Amino acid sequence: MSEPKMARIMCPNLTCRKVLSIPETARGKTVRCKSCGTSIRIPSSKPTKPAGQPEQGAQTPPSN
Ligand SMILES: [Zn+2]
Repeated sequence: MSEPKMARIMCPNLTCRKVLSIPETARGKTVRCKSCGTSIRIPSSKPTKPAGQPEQGAQTPPSN
């Protein structure tokens, strides 16, 4: 149980887009892409918002 959890982030540099494995301990810090040297800020918490979930409208049309 001593294995550090790794998170994967993609380099924001569109010409690089390298997937980097960073330890969870690096959250809230800035890491540098090994490939292009871009500084990437690691968010301290995971985005918990479910992506691509359309809101279901429970609107019923008036049946009169
Ligand atoms: Zn990069």
